[in-house]
Amino acid sequence: MSTKLCKNCASKIPVDAHICPTCGAKIEDVSEVVEEVIQEEEQPKDFREVLFGFKKRGPFYKWVTLLLAIFLGWLGIHKFYERKFYMGLLYMVTGGFCGIGIILDIINLLAKPTVYYNYY
Ligand SMILES: [Zn+2]
Repeated sequence: MSTKLCKNCASKIPVDAHICPTCGAKIEDVSEVVEEVIQEEEQPKDFREVLFGFKKRGPFYKWVTLLLAIFLGWLGIHKFYERKFYMGLLYMVTGGFCGIGIILDIINLLAKPTVYYNYY
């Protein structure tokens, strides 16, 4: 029979025990915890995660990014919001590639769903 350790006295006790036979302490139901872990939703991986090892970032909210791009895009704030720090700095220095980068970003953002994720 498999055993676990009592948190109170550290003696070996049966896995399904609710009360420690050695010290009489109440044991948390371990099986409940295990079930929770199993039930944790397994999200399907994006091909960019699988192929390139990119990390999924987000969620980002389209309208937040869009407004940031329109009003503060020349400071790269929407890039910082997307946690693209170096890109944000580059936008800050170049004024959003003289506005061209911002326009391309806005077009790109309009095509995105309301809540989107990035991979990089
Ligand atoms: Zn005990």
